Amino acid sequence: MAITLQDKPTGEEIDIPIVGPAIRPAHERGESATKLRQKVLETLCGSAIPLSAYDILSQIQGEKRIAPTQVYRALDSLQEAGAIYKLASRPAFVLRASAPDTGRSVVFMVCRECDRVQESAVSSSVQHLQVTAAKAGFRASNPIVEIVGECADCGSEGRTI
Ligand SMILES: [Zn+2]
Repeated sequence: MAITLQDKPTGEEIDIPIVGPAIRPAHERGESATKLRQKVLETLCGSAIPLSAYDILSQIQGEKRIAPTQVYRALDSLQEAGAIYKLASRPAFVLRASAPDTGRSVVFMVCRECDRVQESAVSSSVQHLQVTAAKAGFRASNPIVEIVGECADCGSEGRTI
């Protein structure tokens, strides 16, 4: 869709494309969705502990009102891209240290005392899980294991030597 205007100095007719109201919001949404994903990543990057969608929302909520569904959409697409991981043990997200496309298995260690999450690459026990899954006819892709316990800092407190 376009409107035709006449260029005054030359008298030539110029077609000016019109972005209709049905198209414009979608275009703007795409741009703001990218910015929102970036903000979500920055927020998770700046946090030492996993954050829930509402934690993230309250941290990025500025002058412009952001709906929880927008944050959920950003989190979904970041999760699909493998940039973040949603913990199974609690409704919270962490930034992934390893790229998921490497095909390596990952272990997330969640400390119930200080809430910090450590990510560690492949372990033989995860490979055992893959073998177990394969024996059951289940094709596991990029298995992720999550362990809840106490980290080295928290676990050493109150321990006698
Ligand atoms: Zn800890």
